[in-house]
Amino acid sequence: MIVIFLGPPGAGKGTQAAHIVETYKIPQLSTGDMFRAAVKDETPVGLKVKAVLDAGDLVSDDIVAALVEERIEQDDCADGFLLDGFPRTVVQAEALDAMLTKKELAVDAVIELRVDEGALLDRLRKRIKETGGARSDDNEETFKKRLEVYADQTAPLIPFYEKQGNLKAVDGMGDVEAVSAEIDAILSEIRR
Ligand code: ADP
Repeated sequence: MIVIFLGPPGAGKGTQAAHIVETYKIPQLSTGDMFRAAVKDETPVGLKVKAVLDAGDLVSDDIVAALVEERIEQDDCADGFLLDGFPRTVVQAEALDAMLTKKELAVDAVIELRVDEGALLDRLRKRIKETGGARSDDNEETFKKRLEVYADQTAPLIPFYEKQGNLKAVDGMGDVEAVSAEIDAILSEIRR
């Protein structure tokens, strides 16, 4: 099962991903986590993308696509995977389709977590408190930039996947369990 999570920063993708990983036994492929690990380890990719992450901008499509293509070749992805944070542009979505077609695979569902914009900043403030600001891009200024980038570059994926017939919108304003239940209802239908 190949599932994509779509939603603005703070929508709860990470929280819900943990639930899906456990329930469906597929790995979570978070490009944000991969980049943060690369920055921490000071790999060549990490050195290249650090400033981009800190500014709240997007890493270039070719770097991200190469990273994902390599990752989905690994054994733990054989039965599917959950993409969290990728694709983030229409170019990336097209690159993903091309990668999957080569492997005779296709996306099964795109889950869009819908959250009121006003709630996102509140969630960020809470996360900064809880994590002590562990993420260098979790400050209000960069967060606002990430929201803008989402609206400009990532939101166009909503009509893109709607057209493919894969888009499933979920109300992300409920409590964690309610959102998980909605996601479960969608995934249990498409599970093969
Ligand atoms: P968020 O919590 O804002 O959804 P992520 O953890 O998914 O953030 O990503 C953090 C940062 O990593 C992004 O702001 C961006 O700089 C970079 N990044 C992650 N995924 C991608 C992607 N698919 N394309 C471009 N940049 C990405």
